Amino acid sequence: MSAQTKQTTSFIAGRHVPSLQTYPNIDPATGAELCQVARGGAAEVDEAVTAAAAAQRGWARTSPEERSRLLVAAAGLIRRDRETLARLESEDTGKPLAQAYADVDVCARYFEFYGHTIESFYGSTIPLGGDMHVYTRREPYGVTGHIVAWNYPLQLVGRAAATSLATGNCAVAKPADETPRSTVALAELIHEAGFPAGAFNVITGLGAEAGDALAHHPGIAHLGFVGSTATGSKIAHAAADRVIPTVLELGGKSANVVFADADIDAAVPSLVRSIIQNAGQTCSAGSRLLVHRAVRAEVVEKMAAAFGRVAIGRGVDDPDLGPLVSAKQLERVTGFLDRLTAGEVVAGGRSPDGLPEALAGGAFFAPTLVDGVSPDDEIAREEVFGPVVVATEFDSDDEAVALANGTDYGLVSAVWTQSLGRAHRMAAAIEAGQVFVNTYGAGGGVELPFGGFKKSGYGREKSIEAFAEYTQTKTVVVKL
Ligand code: NAD
Repeated sequence: MSAQTKQTTSFIAGRHVPSLQTYPNIDPATGAELCQVARGGAAEVDEAVTAAAAAQRGWARTSPEERSRLLVAAAGLIRRDRETLARLESEDTGKPLAQAYADVDVCARYFEFYGHTIESFYGSTIPLGGDMHVYTRREPYGVTGHIVAWNYPLQLVGRAAATSLATGNCAVAKPADETPRSTVALAELIHEAGFPAGAFNVITGLGAEAGDALAHHPGIAHLGFVGSTATGSKIAHAAADRVIPTVLELGGKSANVVFADADIDAAVPSLVRSIIQNAGQTCSAGSRLLVHRAVRAEVVEKMAAAFGRVAIGRGVDDPDLGPLVSAKQLERVTGFLDRLTAGEVVAGGRSPDGLPEALAGGAFFAPTLVDGVSPDDEIAREEVFGPVVVATEFDSDDEAVALANGTDYGLVSAVWTQSLGRAHRMAAAIEAGQVFVNTYGAGGGVELPFGGFKKSGYGREKSIEAFAEYTQTKTVVVKL
Protein backbone atom coordinates (compact mmCIF):
# COMPACT_ATOMS: atom_id res chain seq x y z
CA MET A 1 0.00 0.00 0.00
CA SER A 2 1.51 3.31 1.15
CA ALA A 3 4.35 4.65 -0.95
CA GLN A 4 5.72 6.31 2.18
CA THR A 5 9.17 4.99 2.88
CA LYS A 6 11.91 7.24 4.14
CA GLN A 7 10.02 10.44 3.47
CA THR A 8 6.38 11.25 4.15
CA THR A 9 5.05 13.79 1.68
CA SER A 10 1.92 15.83 1.16
CA PHE A 11 -0.73 14.20 -1.05
CA ILE A 12 -2.36 16.60 -3.50
CA ALA A 13 -4.72 15.79 -6.38
CA GLY A 14 -3.92 12.09 -6.16
CA ARG A 15 -0.14 12.30 -6.08
CA HIS A 16 2.70 12.65 -3.59
CA VAL A 17 4.16 16.14 -3.38
CA PRO A 18 7.53 16.56 -1.66
CA SER A 19 8.67 19.87 -0.19
CA LEU A 20 12.11 21.44 -0.31
CA GLN A 21 12.40 21.32 3.47
CA THR A 22 11.75 18.36 5.74
CA TYR A 23 11.66 17.65 9.48
CA PRO A 24 12.16 14.40 11.42
CA ASN A 25 9.31 12.20 12.65
CA ILE A 26 10.48 10.83 16.01
CA ASP A 27 9.57 7.44 17.54
CA PRO A 28 8.29 8.43 21.01
CA ALA A 29 9.24 5.04 22.47
CA THR A 30 12.95 5.32 21.63
CA GLY A 31 13.69 8.88 20.53
CA ALA A 32 14.99 7.51 17.19
CA GLU A 33 14.00 8.96 13.81
CA LEU A 34 11.22 7.12 11.96
CA CYS A 35 11.38 9.13 8.73
CA GLN A 36 11.63 12.63 7.32
CA VAL A 37 8.42 14.56 6.70
CA ALA A 38 7.84 17.12 3.94
CA ARG A 39 7.48 20.55 5.52
CA GLY A 40 4.65 21.90 3.42
CA GLY A 41 3.75 25.57 3.54
CA ALA A 42 1.67 28.22 1.81
CA ALA A 43 2.56 27.03 -1.72
CA GLU A 44 1.47 23.44 -1.07
CA VAL A 45 -1.68 24.60 0.73
CA ASP A 46 -2.58 26.80 -2.23
CA GLU A 47 -2.03 23.91 -4.66
CA ALA A 48 -4.21 21.62 -2.54
CA VAL A 49 -7.06 24.12 -2.13
CA THR A 50 -7.03 24.77 -5.89
CA ALA A 51 -7.18 21.02 -6.57
CA ALA A 52 -9.98 20.54 -4.07
CA ALA A 53 -12.00 23.41 -5.52
CA ALA A 54 -11.65 21.96 -9.02
CA ALA A 55 -12.75 18.51 -7.81
CA GLN A 56 -15.62 19.89 -5.75
CA ARG A 57 -17.46 21.44 -8.69
CA GLY A 58 -18.17 17.98 -10.13
CA TRP A 59 -18.33 16.18 -6.80
CA ALA A 60 -21.16 18.40 -5.53
CA ARG A 61 -23.30 17.18 -8.44
CA THR A 62 -22.84 13.46 -7.74
CA SER A 63 -25.79 11.55 -6.34
CA PRO A 64 -25.84 10.47 -2.70
CA GLU A 65 -25.88 6.91 -4.04
CA GLU A 66 -22.57 7.43 -5.82
CA ARG A 67 -20.99 9.11 -2.82
CA SER A 68 -22.27 6.31 -0.62
CA ARG A 69 -20.73 3.66 -2.85
CA LEU A 70 -17.30 5.32 -2.78
CA LEU A 71 -17.37 5.94 0.98
CA VAL A 72 -18.19 2.29 1.64
CA ALA A 73 -15.46 1.27 -0.82
CA ALA A 74 -12.97 3.41 1.11
CA ALA A 75 -14.05 1.70 4.34
CA GLY A 76 -13.28 -1.66 2.71
CA LEU A 77 -9.77 -0.52 1.77
CA ILE A 78 -9.15 0.82 5.27
CA ARG A 79 -10.09 -2.59 6.65
CA ARG A 80 -7.92 -4.32 4.02
CA ASP A 81 -4.90 -2.29 5.21
CA ARG A 82 -5.78 -2.55 8.90
CA GLU A 83 -2.43 -4.05 9.85
CA THR A 84 -0.27 -1.44 8.09
CA LEU A 85 -2.37 1.50 9.22
CA ALA A 86 -2.36 0.34 12.85
CA ARG A 87 1.44 -0.02 12.83
CA LEU A 88 1.94 3.46 11.38
CA GLU A 89 -0.46 4.84 14.00
CA SER A 90 1.19 2.98 16.86
CA GLU A 91 4.72 3.97 15.81
CA ASP A 92 3.89 7.64 15.29
CA THR A 93 1.81 8.12 18.44
CA GLY A 94 3.34 5.49 20.74
CA LYS A 95 -0.09 4.05 21.51
CA PRO A 96 -0.51 0.32 22.21
CA LEU A 97 -1.16 -1.69 19.06
CA ALA A 98 -4.58 -2.91 20.24
CA GLN A 99 -5.71 0.72 20.58
CA ALA A 100 -4.30 1.50 17.13
CA TYR A 101 -6.32 -1.38 15.64
CA ALA A 102 -9.42 0.05 17.33
CA ASP A 103 -8.64 3.45 15.80
CA VAL A 104 -8.40 1.93 12.31
CA ASP A 105 -11.72 0.15 12.84
CA VAL A 106 -13.39 3.37 14.01
CA CYS A 107 -11.98 5.22 10.99
CA ALA A 108 -13.49 2.59 8.69
CA ARG A 109 -16.78 2.87 10.60
CA TYR A 110 -16.96 6.61 9.86
CA PHE A 111 -16.76 5.90 6.14
CA GLU A 112 -19.42 3.18 6.46
CA PHE A 113 -21.68 5.20 8.74
CA TYR A 114 -21.66 8.34 6.59
CA GLY A 115 -21.75 6.22 3.44
CA HIS A 116 -24.94 4.58 4.69
CA THR A 117 -26.64 7.63 6.19
CA ILE A 118 -26.00 10.21 3.45
CA GLU A 119 -28.67 8.53 1.36
CA SER A 120 -31.27 9.47 3.99
CA PHE A 121 -30.19 13.07 4.57
CA TYR A 122 -32.95 15.33 3.27
CA GLY A 123 -34.11 18.90 3.28
CA SER A 124 -37.70 19.55 4.28
CA THR A 125 -40.88 21.05 2.89
CA ILE A 126 -42.54 23.89 4.77
CA PRO A 127 -46.35 24.26 4.60
CA LEU A 128 -46.73 27.98 3.97
CA GLY A 129 -50.24 27.47 2.59
CA GLY A 130 -52.11 28.76 -0.43
CA ASP A 131 -50.22 28.41 -3.67
CA MET A 132 -46.80 28.61 -2.03
CA HIS A 133 -44.39 25.70 -2.36
CA VAL A 134 -41.44 25.95 0.04
CA TYR A 135 -38.59 23.52 0.49
CA THR A 136 -35.06 23.47 1.85
CA ARG A 137 -31.90 22.08 0.28
CA ARG A 138 -28.78 21.11 2.24
CA GLU A 139 -25.86 22.31 0.19
CA PRO A 140 -22.12 21.79 0.70
CA TYR A 141 -19.86 24.72 1.57
CA GLY A 142 -17.17 23.97 -1.01
CA VAL A 143 -13.65 23.21 0.24
CA THR A 144 -13.38 22.31 3.92
CA GLY A 145 -10.11 22.62 5.84
CA HIS A 146 -9.18 20.29 8.70
CA ILE A 147 -6.41 20.76 11.25
CA VAL A 148 -6.17 18.01 13.84
CA ALA A 149 -4.26 16.87 16.91
CA TRP A 150 -1.80 13.98 17.20
CA ASN A 151 -3.63 11.80 19.70
CA TYR A 152 -6.10 9.98 17.40
CA PRO A 153 -4.89 10.88 13.90
CA LEU A 154 -6.95 8.35 11.92
CA GLN A 155 -10.13 8.82 13.94
CA LEU A 156 -9.97 12.61 13.80
CA VAL A 157 -9.18 12.87 10.10
CA GLY A 158 -11.49 9.97 9.24
CA ARG A 159 -14.55 11.54 10.85
CA ALA A 160 -13.86 14.89 9.17
CA ALA A 161 -13.07 13.49 5.72
CA ALA A 162 -16.03 11.10 5.64
CA THR A 163 -18.53 13.80 6.66
CA SER A 164 -17.09 16.41 4.32
CA LEU A 165 -17.03 14.08 1.30
CA ALA A 166 -20.46 12.59 2.05
CA THR A 167 -22.09 16.02 2.02
CA GLY A 168 -20.53 17.03 -1.33
CA ASN A 169 -17.60 19.05 -0.04
CA CYS A 170 -13.97 18.37 -0.89
CA ALA A 171 -11.25 18.67 1.71
CA VAL A 172 -7.70 19.64 2.62
CA ALA A 173 -6.33 18.20 5.87
CA LYS A 174 -3.25 19.10 7.92
CA PRO A 175 -2.37 16.26 10.27
CA ALA A 176 -0.47 17.04 13.46
CA ASP A 177 3.27 17.62 13.03
CA GLU A 178 4.12 14.45 14.99
CA THR A 179 1.70 12.02 13.31
CA PRO A 180 1.39 12.52 9.54
CA ARG A 181 1.81 9.01 8.15
CA SER A 182 -1.59 7.39 8.69
CA THR A 183 -3.33 10.48 7.27
CA VAL A 184 -1.26 10.35 4.07
CA ALA A 185 -1.99 6.61 3.86
CA LEU A 186 -5.71 7.34 4.28
CA ALA A 187 -5.54 9.87 1.43
CA GLU A 188 -3.99 7.19 -0.79
CA LEU A 189 -6.84 4.82 0.04
CA ILE A 190 -9.53 7.44 -0.60
CA HIS A 191 -7.94 8.01 -3.99
CA GLU A 192 -7.72 4.26 -4.68
CA ALA A 193 -11.42 3.88 -3.81
CA GLY A 194 -12.24 6.01 -6.85
CA PHE A 195 -12.87 9.49 -5.46
CA PRO A 196 -11.87 12.18 -7.96
CA ALA A 197 -8.26 13.40 -7.74
CA GLY A 198 -8.26 16.40 -5.43
CA ALA A 199 -11.33 15.32 -3.44
CA PHE A 200 -9.20 14.74 -0.34
CA ASN A 201 -5.74 16.28 0.01
CA VAL A 202 -3.18 16.24 2.80
CA ILE A 203 -0.53 18.83 3.59
CA THR A 204 2.17 17.60 5.93
CA GLY A 205 4.09 20.18 7.94
CA LEU A 206 4.14 22.32 11.02
CA GLY A 207 1.20 24.04 12.66
CA ALA A 208 2.65 27.54 12.51
CA GLU A 209 3.42 27.11 8.78
CA ALA A 210 1.10 24.68 6.95
CA GLY A 211 -1.65 24.95 9.59
CA ASP A 212 -1.57 28.72 9.62
CA ALA A 213 -1.59 28.88 5.81
CA LEU A 214 -4.59 26.53 5.65
CA ALA A 215 -6.53 28.45 8.31
CA HIS A 216 -6.05 31.70 6.40
CA HIS A 217 -6.49 30.48 2.81
CA PRO A 218 -9.25 32.42 1.05
CA GLY A 219 -10.44 29.29 -0.78
CA ILE A 220 -11.41 27.48 2.44
CA ALA A 221 -15.15 27.76 3.08
CA HIS A 222 -15.37 25.86 6.37
CA LEU A 223 -12.75 25.06 9.02
CA GLY A 224 -12.69 22.08 11.34
CA PHE A 225 -10.16 22.08 14.16
CA VAL A 226 -9.23 19.53 16.80
CA GLY A 227 -6.60 20.59 19.26
CA SER A 228 -5.83 22.83 22.17
CA THR A 229 -8.07 25.68 23.27
CA ALA A 230 -5.25 28.19 22.67
CA THR A 231 -4.76 27.20 19.02
CA GLY A 232 -8.52 26.79 18.58
CA SER A 233 -8.96 30.43 19.49
CA LYS A 234 -6.48 31.40 16.72
CA ILE A 235 -8.39 29.27 14.24
CA ALA A 236 -11.67 30.87 15.29
CA HIS A 237 -10.15 34.33 14.75
CA ALA A 238 -8.93 33.32 11.28
CA ALA A 239 -12.43 32.01 10.47
CA ALA A 240 -14.10 35.13 11.85
CA ASP A 241 -11.87 37.39 9.73
CA ARG A 242 -13.17 35.62 6.64
CA VAL A 243 -16.70 35.03 8.00
CA ILE A 244 -16.63 31.27 7.52
CA PRO A 245 -18.07 28.69 9.92
CA THR A 246 -15.84 26.59 12.11
CA VAL A 247 -16.18 23.54 14.32
CA LEU A 248 -13.84 23.53 17.31
CA GLU A 249 -13.15 20.30 19.20
CA LEU A 250 -10.88 21.42 22.01
CA GLY A 251 -9.58 20.25 25.35
CA GLY A 252 -11.26 18.77 28.39
CA LYS A 253 -10.96 18.16 32.11
CA SER A 254 -13.60 15.49 32.33
CA ALA A 255 -14.86 14.14 35.65
CA ASN A 256 -15.91 10.71 36.79
CA VAL A 257 -18.37 11.44 39.62
CA VAL A 258 -18.59 8.44 41.96
CA PHE A 259 -21.42 8.39 44.51
CA ALA A 260 -21.54 6.31 47.67
CA ASP A 261 -24.17 4.01 46.15
CA ALA A 262 -22.03 3.18 43.08
CA ASP A 263 -20.97 -0.37 42.23
CA ILE A 264 -17.31 0.39 42.95
CA ASP A 265 -15.89 -2.86 41.59
CA ALA A 266 -17.74 -2.35 38.32
CA ALA A 267 -16.59 1.27 38.16
CA VAL A 268 -12.87 0.95 38.90
CA PRO A 269 -11.77 -0.77 35.63
CA SER A 270 -13.58 1.96 33.70
CA LEU A 271 -12.11 4.75 35.84
CA VAL A 272 -8.64 3.33 35.18
CA ARG A 273 -9.21 2.84 31.45
CA SER A 274 -10.55 6.38 31.09
CA ILE A 275 -7.16 7.82 32.06
CA ILE A 276 -4.80 5.08 30.85
CA GLN A 277 -6.14 4.83 27.30
CA ASN A 278 -3.71 6.48 24.90
CA ALA A 279 -1.59 7.43 27.95
CA GLY A 280 -4.25 9.91 29.03
CA GLN A 281 -3.73 11.92 25.83
CA THR A 282 -7.42 11.83 25.04
CA CYS A 283 -9.52 15.00 24.93
CA SER A 284 -12.23 13.14 26.83
CA ALA A 285 -9.85 11.45 29.33
CA GLY A 286 -11.35 10.94 32.79
CA SER A 287 -8.74 13.15 34.39
CA ARG A 288 -10.75 14.13 37.47
CA LEU A 289 -12.12 11.72 40.05
CA LEU A 290 -14.84 13.31 42.16
CA VAL A 291 -15.71 10.82 44.83
CA HIS A 292 -18.12 10.78 47.76
CA ARG A 293 -16.42 10.98 51.14
CA ALA A 294 -17.89 7.61 52.23
CA VAL A 295 -16.16 5.66 49.42
CA ARG A 296 -13.15 7.86 48.71
CA ALA A 297 -10.58 5.69 50.48
CA GLU A 298 -11.86 2.52 48.83
CA VAL A 299 -11.94 3.97 45.30
CA VAL A 300 -8.51 5.60 45.62
CA GLU A 301 -6.96 2.44 47.01
CA LYS A 302 -8.45 0.23 44.30
CA MET A 303 -7.42 2.60 41.51
CA ALA A 304 -3.87 2.91 42.86
CA ALA A 305 -3.63 -0.89 43.04
CA ALA A 306 -4.85 -1.19 39.44
CA PHE A 307 -2.30 1.42 38.33
CA GLY A 308 0.41 -0.75 39.86
CA ARG A 309 -0.60 -3.63 37.56
CA VAL A 310 -0.45 -1.60 34.31
CA ALA A 311 2.08 -3.04 31.85
CA ILE A 312 4.22 -0.32 30.27
CA GLY A 313 6.22 -0.61 27.05
CA ARG A 314 6.62 0.24 23.39
CA GLY A 315 3.25 0.69 21.64
CA VAL A 316 3.99 -1.86 18.91
CA ASP A 317 4.59 -4.50 21.62
CA ASP A 318 1.01 -3.85 22.77
CA PRO A 319 1.36 -3.10 26.49
CA ASP A 320 -1.46 -1.45 28.52
CA LEU A 321 0.35 1.89 28.43
CA GLY A 322 2.76 3.27 25.85
CA PRO A 323 4.90 6.40 25.92
CA LEU A 324 3.57 9.94 25.62
CA VAL A 325 3.70 11.29 22.08
CA SER A 326 6.95 13.24 22.46
CA ALA A 327 9.70 14.41 24.81
CA LYS A 328 7.95 17.80 24.79
CA GLN A 329 4.74 16.24 26.08
CA LEU A 330 6.71 14.36 28.78
CA GLU A 331 8.20 17.65 29.92
CA ARG A 332 4.72 19.19 30.07
CA VAL A 333 3.26 16.35 32.15
CA THR A 334 6.26 16.23 34.48
CA GLY A 335 5.91 19.99 35.01
CA PHE A 336 2.44 19.61 36.52
CA LEU A 337 3.77 17.14 39.08
CA ASP A 338 6.83 19.28 39.82
CA ARG A 339 4.63 22.28 40.56
CA LEU A 340 2.27 20.37 42.84
CA THR A 341 1.80 22.23 46.10
CA ALA A 342 -0.96 20.13 47.70
CA GLY A 343 -2.36 16.62 47.53
CA GLU A 344 -0.69 13.25 47.98
CA VAL A 345 0.80 11.31 45.06
CA VAL A 346 -0.49 7.81 45.81
CA ALA A 347 0.65 6.24 42.52
CA GLY A 348 3.22 7.16 39.87
CA GLY A 349 4.21 10.81 39.71
CA ARG A 350 7.24 10.30 37.49
CA SER A 351 8.74 8.17 34.71
CA PRO A 352 8.40 4.45 35.45
CA ASP A 353 11.27 2.35 36.80
CA GLY A 354 12.55 -0.84 35.26
CA LEU A 355 12.11 -0.09 31.56
CA PRO A 356 14.54 -1.87 29.21
CA GLU A 357 17.66 0.01 28.11
CA ALA A 358 16.29 0.36 24.54
CA LEU A 359 13.46 2.54 25.85
CA ALA A 360 15.67 4.82 27.94
CA GLY A 361 15.12 7.68 25.44
CA GLY A 362 11.35 7.16 25.39
CA ALA A 363 8.72 9.59 26.66
CA PHE A 364 7.26 7.32 29.36
CA PHE A 365 5.25 8.46 32.38
CA ALA A 366 3.81 6.13 35.02
CA PRO A 367 0.04 6.02 35.71
CA THR A 368 -0.42 8.67 38.36
CA LEU A 369 -3.07 9.36 41.00
CA VAL A 370 -2.93 12.48 43.14
CA ASP A 371 -5.38 12.34 46.05
CA GLY A 372 -6.82 15.21 48.08
CA VAL A 373 -6.54 17.86 45.38
CA SER A 374 -8.31 21.19 45.81
CA PRO A 375 -10.51 22.23 42.87
CA ASP A 376 -8.49 25.45 42.64
CA ASP A 377 -5.16 23.68 42.10
CA GLU A 378 -3.61 24.01 38.64
CA ILE A 379 -3.59 20.23 38.20
CA ALA A 380 -7.36 20.10 38.90
CA ARG A 381 -8.22 22.89 36.46
CA GLU A 382 -5.87 22.50 33.52
CA GLU A 383 -5.58 19.71 30.99
CA VAL A 384 -2.47 17.63 31.76
CA PHE A 385 -2.84 15.31 28.76
CA GLY A 386 -1.01 12.42 30.38
CA PRO A 387 -1.95 9.39 32.52
CA VAL A 388 -2.64 11.59 35.53
CA VAL A 389 -5.91 11.63 37.52
CA VAL A 390 -6.62 13.89 40.48
CA ALA A 391 -9.08 12.95 43.24
CA THR A 392 -11.32 15.37 45.15
CA GLU A 393 -14.02 14.34 47.61
CA PHE A 394 -17.55 15.69 48.04
CA ASP A 395 -20.37 15.33 50.56
CA SER A 396 -23.58 16.20 48.74
CA ASP A 397 -25.09 16.04 45.26
CA ASP A 398 -25.02 19.82 45.02
CA GLU A 399 -21.34 19.89 45.86
CA ALA A 400 -20.70 17.18 43.25
CA VAL A 401 -22.42 19.30 40.57
CA ALA A 402 -20.47 22.41 41.58
CA LEU A 403 -17.19 20.49 41.39
CA ALA A 404 -18.05 18.79 38.11
CA ASN A 405 -18.86 22.15 36.54
CA GLY A 406 -15.98 23.95 38.24
CA THR A 407 -13.55 24.10 35.31
CA ASP A 408 -13.48 26.09 32.07
CA TYR A 409 -14.03 22.87 30.12
CA GLY A 410 -17.19 20.87 29.42
CA LEU A 411 -16.46 17.92 27.15
CA VAL A 412 -17.46 14.66 28.86
CA SER A 413 -18.51 13.45 32.28
CA ALA A 414 -19.65 10.21 33.90
CA VAL A 415 -21.91 9.58 36.88
CA TRP A 416 -21.57 6.39 38.88
CA THR A 417 -24.67 5.63 41.00
CA GLN A 418 -27.37 3.00 41.46
CA SER A 419 -30.05 5.68 41.79
CA LEU A 420 -31.92 6.29 38.56
CA GLY A 421 -33.26 9.62 39.79
CA ARG A 422 -29.83 10.90 40.79
CA ALA A 423 -28.34 9.73 37.48
CA HIS A 424 -30.81 11.76 35.43
CA ARG A 425 -30.66 14.81 37.74
CA MET A 426 -26.88 14.82 37.41
CA ALA A 427 -27.03 14.28 33.63
CA ALA A 428 -29.18 17.41 33.36
CA ALA A 429 -27.06 19.49 35.75
CA ILE A 430 -23.59 18.69 34.40
CA GLU A 431 -22.26 21.06 31.75
CA ALA A 432 -20.73 18.71 29.20
CA GLY A 433 -21.30 17.61 25.63
CA GLN A 434 -21.65 13.97 26.69
CA VAL A 435 -22.68 12.47 30.04
CA PHE A 436 -22.29 8.76 30.66
CA VAL A 437 -24.03 6.84 33.44
CA ASN A 438 -22.27 3.81 34.92
CA THR A 439 -19.92 3.62 31.95
CA TYR A 440 -17.34 5.87 30.34
CA GLY A 441 -16.83 6.53 26.65
CA ALA A 442 -18.44 4.30 24.08
CA GLY A 443 -15.89 2.86 21.70
CA GLY A 444 -15.42 5.33 18.90
CA GLY A 445 -18.89 6.74 19.51
CA VAL A 446 -19.34 7.09 15.75
CA GLU A 447 -23.13 7.39 16.12
CA LEU A 448 -23.05 9.80 19.08
CA PRO A 449 -22.99 13.61 18.74
CA PHE A 450 -19.65 14.79 20.10
CA GLY A 451 -18.42 18.24 21.03
CA GLY A 452 -17.91 20.60 23.89
CA PHE A 453 -19.66 23.01 26.19
CA LYS A 454 -17.73 26.06 27.37
CA LYS A 455 -14.02 26.13 26.39
CA SER A 456 -14.16 22.58 25.07
CA GLY A 457 -15.39 24.10 21.82
CA TYR A 458 -18.51 24.36 19.72
CA GLY A 459 -20.21 22.52 16.92
CA ARG A 460 -20.74 18.78 16.79
CA GLU A 461 -18.89 16.06 14.95
CA LYS A 462 -19.73 12.35 14.72
CA SER A 463 -23.33 11.13 14.33
CA ILE A 464 -25.94 12.41 11.89
CA GLU A 465 -25.68 15.85 13.52
CA ALA A 466 -22.36 16.37 11.75
CA PHE A 467 -24.19 16.58 8.41
CA ALA A 468 -25.76 19.82 9.61
CA GLU A 469 -22.29 21.20 10.42
CA TYR A 470 -20.95 20.52 6.93
CA THR A 471 -23.93 21.84 4.95
CA GLN A 472 -25.76 25.13 4.64
CA THR A 473 -29.52 25.35 4.30
CA LYS A 474 -31.02 27.02 1.28
CA THR A 475 -34.74 27.81 1.41
CA VAL A 476 -36.55 27.85 -1.92
CA VAL A 477 -39.90 29.66 -2.06
CA VAL A 478 -42.07 29.11 -5.15
CA LYS A 479 -45.38 30.82 -5.90
CA LEU A 480 -47.22 28.26 -7.96
P1 NAD B 1 -2.38 21.97 19.21
O1 NAD B 1 -3.47 22.96 19.30
O2 NAD B 1 -1.01 22.39 19.55
O3 NAD B 1 -2.26 21.39 17.70
C1 NAD B 1 -3.38 20.88 17.03
C2 NAD B 1 -3.16 21.06 15.54
O4 NAD B 1 -3.08 22.46 15.27
C3 NAD B 1 -1.89 20.45 15.00
O5 NAD B 1 -2.15 19.92 13.72
C4 NAD B 1 -0.95 21.63 14.89
O6 NAD B 1 0.02 21.45 13.89
C5 NAD B 1 -1.92 22.72 14.49
N1 NAD B 1 -1.48 24.08 14.83
C6 NAD B 1 -0.66 24.49 15.83
N2 NAD B 1 -0.49 25.82 15.80
C7 NAD B 1 -1.21 26.28 14.75
C8 NAD B 1 -1.46 27.56 14.19
N3 NAD B 1 -0.89 28.66 14.70
N4 NAD B 1 -2.27 27.65 13.13
C9 NAD B 1 -2.86 26.57 12.60
N5 NAD B 1 -2.66 25.32 13.06
C10 NAD B 1 -1.85 25.17 14.13
O7 NAD B 1 -2.88 20.75 20.06
P2 NAD B 1 -2.11 19.42 20.37
O8 NAD B 1 -1.20 19.67 21.50
O9 NAD B 1 -1.54 18.85 19.11
O10 NAD B 1 -3.33 18.45 20.79
C11 NAD B 1 -3.73 18.33 22.09
C12 NAD B 1 -5.02 19.07 22.32
O11 NAD B 1 -6.05 18.62 21.43
C13 NAD B 1 -5.57 18.83 23.70
O12 NAD B 1 -5.98 20.04 24.26
C14 NAD B 1 -6.77 17.92 23.46
O13 NAD B 1 -7.74 17.97 24.43
C15 NAD B 1 -7.26 18.40 22.15
N6 NAD B 1 -8.09 17.38 21.48
C16 NAD B 1 -9.45 17.58 21.40
C17 NAD B 1 -10.27 16.62 20.81
C18 NAD B 1 -11.75 16.82 20.72
O14 NAD B 1 -12.37 16.17 19.90
N7 NAD B 1 -12.34 17.70 21.52
C19 NAD B 1 -9.71 15.46 20.29
C20 NAD B 1 -8.33 15.30 20.38
C21 NAD B 1 -7.53 16.28 20.98
